Amino acid sequence: MNQKLGDFRRAGHEAVDWIADYLQDPRQFPVLPQMKPGDLVDQIPDHAPEKGEPFENLLADFHRLVIPAFTHWNHPRFMAFFSTSASAPGVLAEMLSATINGNVMLWKSSPAGTELEIAAMNWLRQWLGLPKQYFGIIYDTASMSTFTAIAAARHFADPEIREKGASAANLILYTSEQAHSSVEKGALALGIGQRNVRKIGTDPEFRMRVDLLRAAIEEDVRAGKRPFCVVATVGTTSTTSVDPVPAIADLAERYKLWLHVDAAYGGCAAMLPEKRAALDGIERCDSLVTNPHKWLMTPSDLSAFFTRRPEVLREAFSLVPEYLRTEENPRAVNFMDYGVQLGRRFRALKLWFIMRYYGREGVAEMLRAQIGWTQELASAIDADPHFERMAPAPFTVVCFRVKGSDDDNHRLIDAVNATGKTFLAGTVLNGHFTVRLAIGNMGMTRDDVMAVWELVKQSAATLGLV
Ligand code: PLP
Repeated sequence: MNQKLGDFRRAGHEAVDWIADYLQDPRQFPVLPQMKPGDLVDQIPDHAPEKGEPFENLLADFHRLVIPAFTHWNHPRFMAFFSTSASAPGVLAEMLSATINGNVMLWKSSPAGTELEIAAMNWLRQWLGLPKQYFGIIYDTASMSTFTAIAAARHFADPEIREKGASAANLILYTSEQAHSSVEKGALALGIGQRNVRKIGTDPEFRMRVDLLRAAIEEDVRAGKRPFCVVATVGTTSTTSVDPVPAIADLAERYKLWLHVDAAYGGCAAMLPEKRAALDGIERCDSLVTNPHKWLMTPSDLSAFFTRRPEVLREAFSLVPEYLRTEENPRAVNFMDYGVQLGRRFRALKLWFIMRYYGREGVAEMLRAQIGWTQELASAIDADPHFERMAPAPFTVVCFRVKGSDDDNHRLIDAVNATGKTFLAGTVLNGHFTVRLAIGNMGMTRDDVMAVWELVKQSAATLGLV
């Protein structure tokens, strides 16, 4: 099949130039596209072409159709959800990885992909301060990492489930009411059942209450149920609160629960000695997830999962058909044995490139600066009589609201987002709709943070809310 590689070379150079310009200044585009649902699909022909088209048509339509309809996650003023970054070394790795198109299912199918995953995850393990015996594996998302953790926990509690199914096992999972929905979704997908997920209440700073956790476990034990797993969060989605992992680990040990730590966002902070206390106790978990595609400048997707019981994952998941059987060798890890997926992308290359390009010091410097601006913004909000802060800001998310009704705060976010200059999202805390501003893109500066705060204040004034 002819690919006209001369044309590809030209288009590729053009695309790399565009990528470099984009990474240099994503501010040239509005953060949020000015479009209605369906606008893009209406411009795309209903049928694929009968005859092929040249690269120049593809690139022209990328610029004409895709970019104007894109929410620019790489924009330094994208402050919704968690602010993320695709760094140049990560993008470079993605291009190379797509080109060699490896499938990291078996060592044999991709020795370099497998061994680089072992090596890069070993580096990341050290940056997180996890002990040496933790085994690392890359999945696509934290949702899949947590699903895998719950599956391992289920197998650990009752190995017969693999054969018999989970329907009557009466297993109970504990997490906080601030936990990410992926925890409950994982439990649903694994047949644990929604009514067997206990959402433990939190303290005024949105951290899981250990007294309520203990009471819930004891009540379930008395009722003849089988507590099997607790998921603690370091950096919850709404407020980035940190559950008291050491005390939760004590209970997990006492009641033989698998302890999974969801540090999808907060894990990176372990690199900062001054923030290490927030991650105390993670070295006692059975498994942990952190997402380099959140705060570690990694283009989506790459979720890092660690466990000190890899053998449980293998027992839970390994199924080797004859056509995939390869020679046994303790150094030849077959990552397909440790999860649901057979085919796996070669993601380790981007993690390896990023860790080498920036080094621990480079990453720590960025995190530290962003945490500093977060503190500055939090103080500015505290000093403004028209606004109130709704939660502590231990990392880089600030939750606040204009004093007034939920409707006022909805109108405020809508007005700010309608400018196209930033993208803010909201959450509900203590029953109140709250603005949530996430700092974290690698191109962000202090000016970006303060300019968005000014925009919020101006929008509130224009709406007559202050
Ligand atoms: N856990 C936490 C604490 C999160 O904040 C998120 C997403 O924001 C997730 C899990 C899910 O991440 P993913 O999109 O990688 O599944």
